[in-house]
Amino acid sequence: MDAFIQNLKLRFEKERIYTYIGEVLVSVNPYRELPIYGHNYITSYKGCEMFERPAHIFAVAEAAYRILKQRLINSCIVISGESGSGKTEASKIILRYIVAVTNISNQAEIQRISNILIQTNIILETFGNSRTNRNDNSSRFGKYMDLNFNYKFDPIGGKIQHYLLEKSRVVKQQLGERNFHSFYQLLSNKNILQEYGLHFKPEDYYYINQGQCCKIDRINDKKDYEQVIEAFNIVGFTQNEISTIWKIIAVILHLGNITFTDIDGEHCSIVRSNDQLEWISKLLECEQSDISSALTSRVVAARNEVFQTRQNITRAYYGRDALSKALYERLFEWLIKYINKTLSRDDYEQRNSFHKRIYSSFVIGVLDIYGFEIFENNSFEQLCINYCNEKLQQLFIELVLKQEQDEYESENIIWQHIDYFNNKIICDLIEQPRIGILANLDEACQIVGTITDEIFLKSINKTFKNHKYYSSWELTPGDKIWKNIDTNKLFLIRHYAGDVVYSVDGFLDKNRDTLFDDFKRLLYHSKNLILSSMWPDGEKSITSITRRPLTTATKFRNSMISLSNLLSSKQPFYIRCIKPNDEKAANIFDQIRIEHQISHLGLLENVRVRRAGFCHRVSYGRFVQRYKIIDVVRSKLHPYGPFNKESASYICNELNINNDVVYGNTKLFIKQPISLFQLEKKRTE
Ligand code: ATP
Ligand code: MG
Repeated sequence: MDAFIQNLKLRFEKERIYTYIGEVLVSVNPYRELPIYGHNYITSYKGCEMFERPAHIFAVAEAAYRILKQRLINSCIVISGESGSGKTEASKIILRYIVAVTNISNQAEIQRISNILIQTNIILETFGNSRTNRNDNSSRFGKYMDLNFNYKFDPIGGKIQHYLLEKSRVVKQQLGERNFHSFYQLLSNKNILQEYGLHFKPEDYYYINQGQCCKIDRINDKKDYEQVIEAFNIVGFTQNEISTIWKIIAVILHLGNITFTDIDGEHCSIVRSNDQLEWISKLLECEQSDISSALTSRVVAARNEVFQTRQNITRAYYGRDALSKALYERLFEWLIKYINKTLSRDDYEQRNSFHKRIYSSFVIGVLDIYGFEIFENNSFEQLCINYCNEKLQQLFIELVLKQEQDEYESENIIWQHIDYFNNKIICDLIEQPRIGILANLDEACQIVGTITDEIFLKSINKTFKNHKYYSSWELTPGDKIWKNIDTNKLFLIRHYAGDVVYSVDGFLDKNRDTLFDDFKRLLYHSKNLILSSMWPDGEKSITSITRRPLTTATKFRNSMISLSNLLSSKQPFYIRCIKPNDEKAANIFDQIRIEHQISHLGLLENVRVRRAGFCHRVSYGRFVQRYKIIDVVRSKLHPYGPFNKESASYICNELNINNDVVYGNTKLFIKQPISLFQLEKKRTE
C-alpha cells in the first residue's frame, strides 16, 4: 500500500495525475486547470497504443476507440470514485477527445451530432447537479451514455440512461448545500421573473434556502443560465418547451412556499396569504380549485363508490412535497427522453441510406456513477448507491481479476495465485429474489395495515441472523461498532469497501414512493400539452383498478441488473478517480483520505494481481504482424511469417527482452511496460 501511495504522491507533485495499474487508469483530481488537454495532447495520443505514451485519460479513450475501429469490439469506460474525485470531468474529457479525433472529413451532420452530445452535458448538469458539502458541482444521479458510431467510426448518436436521481433534494437540503442548480439559474434572471410570478431573492423560497448558501463564489448562475438556454437551442427544444421547463421549476418554488393550517386535527386548509396558488394555477394551466383540493384532500374509490377524504396537515405537507419531487423527477426524465430522441440512431438511420444501417451499431459506453458512500447517517439512498458499487465491483472481479487469472491458467503459465475477496455473497444479500434485503423490503411495502420500518428491520434481522456480512444490534449487542449510536433502528452491512451502518428510518416510505393519484389526474388534465404528456398515468379514471407502481427498490435492482448486462457485453476500461483532499485544494495530498479511497476502490487487489501478472498480452499473430518489421530489417528471417511463437521469440531475442516475456499457448505475455516501450520505439525507428 505504502509504496503505491508514495508513487502516486510523487507523480501528483509533478502534475502527473494519471497512473496505470495494468490497463486501469488511476486519476487524482488536480483541483486546478492543467495544460494537458489541448490540441497538441490530443494529436500526440491519437492513433497510439496505450503503453506507447505516458499515462493519460486520452490514452484510455483512444484504446476504447481503437478496439472498436480495429477489431469491431464494443467497449465501455467505467469511471468510479467518490464524490468530487473527478468522474464527471473525466467523462467530459473522454467525450471531447472522441469528438476531436473523429469526423476527419468534416461532415456537417456528424458535427451537428457531436455538438449536441457535448451540449447535453450542460443540460444534465443544470437539472441533475447541485452544490453539496463535498463538491460544488455534484452529480445527483448516475449516468450511463452510449455513443454510437457509423461505418466510418464517426459518432452518429447516443443514448443516455440515468440512475436514481436524488429527488429528495428538491424539498430538503442540509446546511451548506443547495438544491439543483436549475432553481438558482432561473432566479438569477431579473428580467424574466415576472412571467413566472417570482422575485429575485432566492432566500425567500423555502425549498432552496434550507442550506443557507444560495449564492456561491465559484458558481455563476446567470452565466450558466445563458449557457443552458444555448444548449436547449442547439439540441432543438422549441420556445414553448423551454418555457414549460422553467414554468415547472417556478411551480416547484411556489409550492414550497405554500403552507397549511390545521382545522380540527383531522382536516387542514391552505393559508391564503400570498398569490402562490394563483401562480401555480396559471403556470400549470390547471384550475385553481382542482389544485387546492388535490393538496388538501383525496378522492378514493371503494366498492364502486367515489368519495372525497380530507387530509390532515401532516399528510398535506407530505403530499405537497411528493408532488414537487415528482414534478421535478418527471421533468428530468422527460429531458433525458427528449435528448435521447434527438440523438437516436433510428433518426440517423432514417436520414441516411439503408446500407449504412447495419454498421451503425458500434458503441462506446461511458459510465459516470456515484461512488461508495459512508455517511454519519446512512439511509435507503446509500443502500442503493452502495449496492450499485457492489455490482460494479462484482463485474470488475469477473472481468478483470478473475478473467486475468483464468487466462493464465488456460495459457498454461506458471504464476502465483492471488486470493481476492469475491463480493458476490454481498450482492446476493441485497438483491436475491424473494430473500434478499430489497425483496424483504418490497414484501413489507405490500402489507396493508400497520407495518413500520422497525417491523421490517425485525424481519431482515431474522432472515440474516447467521449471515457473515450482515449484523444488527439485536444480533450482536456487544459489538464495538454499536457504541455511541442509537441502535434500535440500525443494521450493518459489511461491504467490500467497508462496514456501513444503515438506519431503517424512512425505508418503507422511500421505497413505496407514493404519489396520490389526484396529482397525476390533475397534471394529466393540464391544458399545457407538454406538461400533460409527462403524466400519462393520470388518464385512468378514479374507479379503474390500478396496479401498484413498481417500488424504488425493484426499479433500481432491475436497472442495476440491466446495467451490469450492458457492461459485461463490452470490453471494459476502468478509470478510478481519487480525491486528494477534502478542501478542494490543489497541491494537498492527504494520505489518510487517499488510503481509504484506494481500499474502497479495490485498487490494491488490482495491483497485486497485476504485479503477479503482466502489463500486456497479445496473440502471436498480432504480435508478429506488428513487430515483424524489427526483425525483417535486421535478419530478414521471416518477411511473411509464420506468425507464431517461434517468430515472436526471434523478435524478442533481437531486442534482448526475452527475460521479460513469457510464452503462453496462444499468447505472448510481457511483464514490464518498458519492454513494450522498447518494442514500440524500435518499430517506429
Ligand atoms: P460527484 O460524484 O459529486 O458528481 P465527481 O466525481 O463527478 O463528483 P467532478 O464534478 O468531476 O467530481 O469534479 C469535481 C471538481 O474537481 C470539478 O468541478 C473541477 O473543479 C475539479 N476537477 C475534476 N477533475 C479535474 C481535472 N481533470 N482537471 C481540473 N480540475 C478537475
Ligand atoms: Mg459527477
